[in-house]
Amino acid sequence: MSHLRINELTKKFGSTIAVNNFSIDIKKGESVVLLGPSGCGKTTLLKLIAGFTKPDEGLISVENKVISTPYEVLPPDKRQMSMVFQSYAIWPHKTVFENVAYGLTMRNMRKTEIQSRVRDVLELVQLTGFEERYSTQLSGGQQQRVALARAMVVEPSILLLDEPLSNLDANLRVEMREELSALHKRVGITFVYVTHDQAEAMVLAQRIVLMKNGLLVQEGTPKDLYEKPKNSFVASFIGVANIFSGRPESSALDEKNRIRIKTSCGSVQVGRQTQQADLSKDKIFFCVRPEWVEFPSGAFDPNANQFKAKILKRQYYGKTINYEAAIGEQEISIEAKFKHDFPVGAEVTVELPPDRCVCLQEN
Ligand code: ATP
Repeated sequence: MSHLRINELTKKFGSTIAVNNFSIDIKKGESVVLLGPSGCGKTTLLKLIAGFTKPDEGLISVENKVISTPYEVLPPDKRQMSMVFQSYAIWPHKTVFENVAYGLTMRNMRKTEIQSRVRDVLELVQLTGFEERYSTQLSGGQQQRVALARAMVVEPSILLLDEPLSNLDANLRVEMREELSALHKRVGITFVYVTHDQAEAMVLAQRIVLMKNGLLVQEGTPKDLYEKPKNSFVASFIGVANIFSGRPESSALDEKNRIRIKTSCGSVQVGRQTQQADLSKDKIFFCVRPEWVEFPSGAFDPNANQFKAKILKRQYYGKTINYEAAIGEQEISIEAKFKHDFPVGAEVTVELPPDRCVCLQEN
């Protein structure tokens, strides 16, 4: 059953359409990440869900109860939701205990109940023993955990997180995103998480919702978006993509559901997502991920999507070696296993496995 339903939601600021006719159903306990470039409307959508902003069109409901329409918005504190902000927003003059207990004190809860809830939630975020510290005496990661504990202590049914890790340094970010993912699995509440960091989205999301200009471009599991991107925006936003363009050589799929596309490199067989191809078009696009490009060991076989290429750049990473190579005029990135070690200038054979060539819709 849908927990949170967003139905044809639109929010405008003057001539900017921050959220554009946006619809999504989120299941109870699901972890959904809103991902997209700066200005695509992620925070506005989160604020609409939280009840800080009124939509211009559409509605939001939780468990079939409508909570936002253009005419009426249930206030944030009546929504059983908590929000964690990028800036933590914890009070420096209060202790960890006082910060976390604040929401419960406001509800006139009994002292013993408050103590027990705060103790439990601090244990959950691994801050037991820090109760009497002031936030000025905490590291960035610990402050972020206080913000999380404060949001969780009121037992929300939905937790909204707006780039909560963006103020942390790179190592701590990696550590905290794993902790957050583990926390979500332990508590099982619905997470709606905003980020523009695709690696963070891959770790935290059961479902990624990729946005651009206020619109939902594609949603799916991290694997879906990585392996079956809808268009070149998705392919390039989630990881690195070599995008090719060319003309379809026939008007129908072959017996293996592949198409042949005439490109500047020659004829390429494309095997995945061919249902997206409009074979009547003069120009269609496909992509291949850098790690999907192979260096075949046998004799050159042009019928197996093999092409002659020249190594232009080489970056050695130990486990892998990254290359920039040219197949004719087309430059591609390749992430190769360490055993495929070629110098710059080497003439090599590369293979684009047909079922790793993914047909794209036009943007
Ligand atoms: P970022 O990742 O940079 O935080 P975002 O995806 O969260 O970006 P939003 O903050 O939702 O994007 O903004 C979406 C669009 O709406 C932007 O063009 C922004 O300038 C505009 N916008 C947001 N809030 C307001 C406001 N209060 N007044 C006017 N324009 C706004």
